[in-house]
Amino acid sequence: MKFLVLSENGNGTWPYLYYRGMGALELHKRIQQHGYQSTLIDWFTVWSPDKLTSAIQAWFGDEVNPVIAISTPFDITDVYKIKEVLAQARTRYPNLKVIHGGSRTYNPQIKDIDVFFLGRSMQVFDAWLKGTDLTVYTVNTDPLVLVNKNFDQTVDTPVLPKLDDNDFLTPYDILGFEIGVGCKFNCTFCNYELRGAKVTTLTDSYTLKQYFEEAHAKYGIRYFFAADDTPNETDDKLAILADAVDGLSFKPKITAYSRLDIITGRPQQLELYRRIQFDSLFFGIESFNNNASRLVRKKSDIGSVEQTLKDLRRLCPDTFTVGGIIIGLNGDSESSIRSSLDRVVEQQLLDSVQLYPLSISRSRYITDPGYHSALDNDPAGNGYPITGLLEFHRGNSAVQNLNWTSDWSNSIDAGELSQQLYLDYRDKINTINFMEYTGLNALGLAKRDLYLTPTQVWQSQAMAKSSRLKLNYIDKKLNWLLTNSNQSCIVV
Ligand code: SF4
Repeated sequence: MKFLVLSENGNGTWPYLYYRGMGALELHKRIQQHGYQSTLIDWFTVWSPDKLTSAIQAWFGDEVNPVIAISTPFDITDVYKIKEVLAQARTRYPNLKVIHGGSRTYNPQIKDIDVFFLGRSMQVFDAWLKGTDLTVYTVNTDPLVLVNKNFDQTVDTPVLPKLDDNDFLTPYDILGFEIGVGCKFNCTFCNYELRGAKVTTLTDSYTLKQYFEEAHAKYGIRYFFAADDTPNETDDKLAILADAVDGLSFKPKITAYSRLDIITGRPQQLELYRRIQFDSLFFGIESFNNNASRLVRKKSDIGSVEQTLKDLRRLCPDTFTVGGIIIGLNGDSESSIRSSLDRVVEQQLLDSVQLYPLSISRSRYITDPGYHSALDNDPAGNGYPITGLLEFHRGNSAVQNLNWTSDWSNSIDAGELSQQLYLDYRDKINTINFMEYTGLNALGLAKRDLYLTPTQVWQSQAMAKSSRLKLNYIDKKLNWLLTNSNQSCIVV
């Protein structure tokens, strides 16, 4: 077998950013570890059909058993955008297999795929590559849909991509990594696949340091994202990153999630944050209201976390901090939300706030085992009776958003209030995400007071720059494929 990995992460929430998909890089690494040839094509929906067809034929040449592995973490319908290219490839290569990963729900309306890997799939993918019996993972046979219901954390290890010259990485890139796999907590609304983990497998600081050094020395990369859902769930986990950053030949700019209430409860972590000096951080605060916060198993009320935010600001003055607030939670109220936001603005406790209406959803089809949160599984039992279907989730007909009610709101009112709050606060504080900030920083466009610039202006500047970078990448990658693959087999 010979593999071509096609990745597309640019059609999600931040189409104007320029960063590499971690899943595709990990897949590519695992294929090579198993002794097969593989190369990676990023942003496959940006390639013209002619160029993509040339690339496929240049890479596969006369290969008898080619495999196209498609990774789409945000929008599985990206597969439709290369339907003709795949059809042409199947004609040229009758044994071609097309496999797909990156989604957490299976949608039977998506055709053209031979094997679906749902959710975190390293262990399943290894088994498929080795040709071992897949019965334990099989949840559908036509097409084959594989899901891992029993993780082995010695196989599903923290992701640390292998960097190849032919990935044409640039100083504008942001690269991902994981410190560990699994989170020991089990928050009511969380759908991280490996929550409630008994064992969290961690990487080591030496390996992580080598990764940072290689990325910077070879490709000039300074921007990274820690993909862990909770890098500070324990002091040890965060210390791995602090040790990896200490003594580097450059200052990495890292973006990450963090739990603010854990920093408050374990103030010794402040020193680790001081050593790391993150570029940006996202705190899933959920609510600054004491009652609402405790009902979602957090202690993020404004009285508990205000001092922590001030301490972080003092110790890490350049870290851009973002707080996520859920609108509509039981125990909360509009006046409480407004007064805490006013306090955040007055005291400059955060650089940005993100306001989301509570979302409770349900997939109509097969999912990975962690896809539904405790709240999704039993909304009424958790205090949110359901009164019907609200809409399909981001246009995905496989997932339905449900119409819930709380003790003071419901899904429609919470959506409207989120919009109104956005309008009321957008000229007082940023409303961008942590990844957006670091992504803009990598493109040279970030500003602490970005809210003073109209959104369309900075988004179109970022889009123009990232589009140029993607087109430049496509030219280099295609040229590499045409000059380094089997020339006699190229058919354009
Ligand atoms: S919300 Fe964060 S801390 Fe809670 S279970 Fe999920 S990953 Fe863990």
